[in-house]
Amino acid sequence: MKVTGDFYAYLWPGLTNAEMQTYGNNCNSYIVADALPGGRHVLVDPGMITNETGLKCLDHLVAEIEADDLRIEDVGLIINTHAHPDHYGASEEIRKLCKSQVTIGKGEDEFVRMTSGKKSGTGQIGFELPELQPDFYLKEGELLLGSRYMAEIYYTPGHTKGHIGVYWPEHKIFMAGDLIFYGSTGRVDLPGGSAHMLKNSIERVARLDIEYLFTGHQYGGPGILKGKGQIESNFSSIRANVFSYL
Ligand SMILES: [Zn+2]
Repeated sequence: MKVTGDFYAYLWPGLTNAEMQTYGNNCNSYIVADALPGGRHVLVDPGMITNETGLKCLDHLVAEIEADDLRIEDVGLIINTHAHPDHYGASEEIRKLCKSQVTIGKGEDEFVRMTSGKKSGTGQIGFELPELQPDFYLKEGELLLGSRYMAEIYYTPGHTKGHIGVYWPEHKIFMAGDLIFYGSTGRVDLPGGSAHMLKNSIERVARLDIEYLFTGHQYGGPGILKGKGQIESNFSSIRANVFSYL
């Protein structure tokens, strides 16, 4: 689904949809079309190949991308907001298919070392950990992609140690991963999580000029928050209703 300009969103319905059909877990994925030289695309958070309900999440994503007249084969760079399998799980599969590069925040390197060279096994978080092999790590600051777009990487730790968000200043779009959702935040009780850091990261992002907040999950609310009014009131309600419980 096209959101604005070259920005496309593929929102996972959530554990169940309005008709109570089961979808299970997966993340929202986003594409910035034609952002790289040669007309290739940036894909942020590819999601899983298959989730716990047996749904083929990657096939579903590919079909949705094709319905927008884009091709998965044109993905040149996969940016992962953090090292949880429901976000990065399909990275290696897409890399093989598309010869794309894979990247993630520097702070996730411990996790990457844990998965590399091993047959995926059950990690501390209690589910399968697919392998993740970044071509390079993201640093805080500008990420030059080509002549058309410049992205800014923000370190946003708290949900995980090396979580990052991607800001597109020309379009005032922030891709938040599992930092913040509609009415809630990412959990802080998994390895590497920190409530203190999550709150600091949220306050830092709240100071950016944002017109579209692209979140990592819908969780019963909209996956994309639009307009300064809705975005600011979401930050306020999270400060008032969620911060003290973190
Ligand atoms: Zn996560």
